[in-house]
Amino acid sequence: MFHSPASDTAAGRPSPLDILKRVYGYDAFRGQQEAVVEHVAAGGDAVVLFPTGAGKSLCFQIPALCRMGVGVVVSPLIALMRDQVEALTQLGVRAAALNSSLSREEYLAVRDRLRAGDLDLLYVTPERIVTDGFAELVAGASLALFAIDEAHCVSQWGHDFRPEYRALGMLKERYPGVPRLALTATADPHTRDDMIERLGLSGARIFTTSFDRPNISYEIAERDQPRQQLLRFLSRHQGESGIVYCLSRAKVEETAAWLNTQGIRALPYHAGFDRTIREAHQDAFLKEEGLCLVATVAFGMGIDKPDVRYVAHLDLPGSVEAYYQETGRAGRDGLPSQAWMAYGMADVVQRGRMIDEGGAADEVKRIERAKLNALLAICETAGCRRQAILAHFGEAHPGQCGHCDSCRNPVETWDGTEAAIKALAAVYRTGERFGAGHLIDVLVGNASEKTTRFGHVDMPVFGAGKDIAPRVWQSIFRQLLAAGLVSVDHTAYGAFRLEPEARAVFRRERQVLFRKDRAPAGRKGARAGSPAARERSNLAGSDLELFERLRAERLSLARELDVPPYVVFPDATLIALARERPRDREELLDIPGIGETKRDRFGDAFLAVIEDFDG
Ligand code: ADP
Ligand code: ZN
Repeated sequence: MFHSPASDTAAGRPSPLDILKRVYGYDAFRGQQEAVVEHVAAGGDAVVLFPTGAGKSLCFQIPALCRMGVGVVVSPLIALMRDQVEALTQLGVRAAALNSSLSREEYLAVRDRLRAGDLDLLYVTPERIVTDGFAELVAGASLALFAIDEAHCVSQWGHDFRPEYRALGMLKERYPGVPRLALTATADPHTRDDMIERLGLSGARIFTTSFDRPNISYEIAERDQPRQQLLRFLSRHQGESGIVYCLSRAKVEETAAWLNTQGIRALPYHAGFDRTIREAHQDAFLKEEGLCLVATVAFGMGIDKPDVRYVAHLDLPGSVEAYYQETGRAGRDGLPSQAWMAYGMADVVQRGRMIDEGGAADEVKRIERAKLNALLAICETAGCRRQAILAHFGEAHPGQCGHCDSCRNPVETWDGTEAAIKALAAVYRTGERFGAGHLIDVLVGNASEKTTRFGHVDMPVFGAGKDIAPRVWQSIFRQLLAAGLVSVDHTAYGAFRLEPEARAVFRRERQVLFRKDRAPAGRKGARAGSPAARERSNLAGSDLELFERLRAERLSLARELDVPPYVVFPDATLIALARERPRDREELLDIPGIGETKRDRFGDAFLAVIEDFDG
């Protein structure tokens, strides 16, 4: 139970709202948080399906503080437990982690605190929580609840499957009467159902909210000169932290090295580095400001850094679920953030090959191909990206979102039925044995060695499409793929095959609309300033100046404590400080994100900055 002299209510126990205010410094619960907190505080089991940034942590932390005993949190990554414990400690919550990196003395210290009832929250790895050792450890302690974070890891259907999560189903039998919550940001219904079943939570109350992430803007560009495109994108995010995802380890290393030559501080991360390097780079990403982390998908799960301002993809992910989860790592703090991707036909071929060579059962391959195609359809849509993404998760978005690339810069469409027929004819006439490059040579009438050798120069379709530029044909083939009119056969070197639906196009029973690809972006000059910078510049001139000074103070405090800056205060708190300029310790408590402990720890330092500021 949480002990604070000021928090005792009539019943001797603080209410959830009390805790929210005094510990976290927030005035109101968000969305369904309150319902979850009340349900679990009263002893109920819960499944919490909220998107990243919705505030899942409070859903188990506050009930743990309301209830007798310690709340046990299962979390997959040791390195991140440390940060969570640190953040809680700064809030005045008594927290500790139990994992294999502890020395014997550290372990005994945790044990003693547990036995003395001196812990509110205990973070544990899934491997450890199922051991007899753990059962003995907690035998004398009273348990407030079990929270299973990143709970989708239990399902083989998800892309983060972790075998050690499997045994967590036993918590129910071993610790009857202790409420359990499973939390995840996974939107995929299949994974959710599997997760609920495996964790034995079919009797739990399920809480869901919209999966929309309104503060993230989406942009998907045709890949043209990927490095220059990336550089232009990053120029909108100077001084901000973000992640650049690449498919291969080699590309991660090359890209990071190249960015450094361009004056952008970047560090690589992938599973091939040894642990010390991985942890050092992850740590730098959390603690430094304005670092670009170039990574494979091995990086990201459980990263609670709230001020990731952008996520860029240099390669196509394998599914909408993966894309959404990866981009979802941006903007946890609710401030404007960007998801950007550059992709091209080569991605589609490469991803397809990965599926085919992956050695999975045919049924699984079929599902993976369908998942890839669903993402392709979002890449090629002429409509609102957000609408298309949410529709994939079965959620309707009212109207256009207004801040994805399609909304900001509406895409024109054109009736491409004639062009589609020519493209499909080229596929058919050449025997469904060739990839896009060769087919485009045929269409534009390029008498290459290969078109000559195969006798394609003599076909009626040769040169039939010379009025359309090769680059547009590329786009047309991608859109034919996305529309399911053709498929790529990866066992035959990426040859295009006709799908049955193509027949209706040949017969002119089906009209085909294509999106008109924009002229390669950026040549007109990238827009200056990132959304977050604009958010900051919503502060009037002198407020902005004060904000920067507060930021410097935060960084020096964070360095002293060796914690990430956001553990001191999130950006939103600094923005409010710069605007409201509280004059004393009482007024500080009105600023969102400043609770009593943080006020006592950091308040004077920030008050001094405000007082010294004569703007
Ligand atoms: P999730 O785990 O769902 O991704 P977090 O628990 O990390 O989200 O919360 C995201 C951010 O929102 C954090 O910075 C957190 O402090 C903030 N937050 C959570 N709940 C509230 C609330 N009720 N009012 C204001 N901010 C909140
Ligand atoms: Zn939109």
